[in-house]
Amino acid sequence: MYEPRVLDQIRQHAQKAWPDECCGVVVDGGVRAGRNLRRGAAFELDAATLIRAHGRILGVYHSHCGAPASMSAADREHARWWPAVDHVVVRVDDGLAGTIRCHGHDGALRWTSV
Ligand SMILES: [Zn+2]
Repeated sequence: MYEPRVLDQIRQHAQKAWPDECCGVVVDGGVRAGRNLRRGAAFELDAATLIRAHGRILGVYHSHCGAPASMSAADREHARWWPAVDHVVVRVDDGLAGTIRCHGHDGALRWTSV
């Protein structure tokens, strides 16, 4: 489980990006908000964020707008390329971030924060 401060940063980013999905990475020391190259119910992290955080990434996060904080089929496919990091999904409803779930690369739930 990440520190409450890190979870707050993820929620704030998700609320700012709503109604689009946000995405970014968790590194030792906090969150690096990324730029989502997609719109709507999809995400693709910009390369600059990944390059700057290279070697220090603990987790990749993104938001689901009006959908559960669980891994979609596309998320599981994406996570296969990131086997060593956490996959964090935050649910946002009407601009308010709520449940955060952290998954392994296989989509299995590791922890939940409400
Ligand atoms: Zn997703």
